[in-house]
Amino acid sequence: MESRLLDILVCPLCKGRLEHDREQAELVCRADRLAFPIRDGIPVMLESEARVLDETAPT
Ligand SMILES: [Zn+2]
Repeated sequence: MESRLLDILVCPLCKGRLEHDREQAELVCRADRLAFPIRDGIPVMLESEARVLDETAPT
């Protein structure tokens, strides 16, 4: 994924900036504790597709 693409990607819920987790291929919103998947290089910015992050997981 190109970094400039990430610059314009915001969370569809809170409109906050997303963190790119390259290992998991996810875009993470820490405010909502959601991780949006990146499939075939394309971010899937749907709440229904997002993974809920474990609150107890270390950051
Ligand atoms: Zn959010």
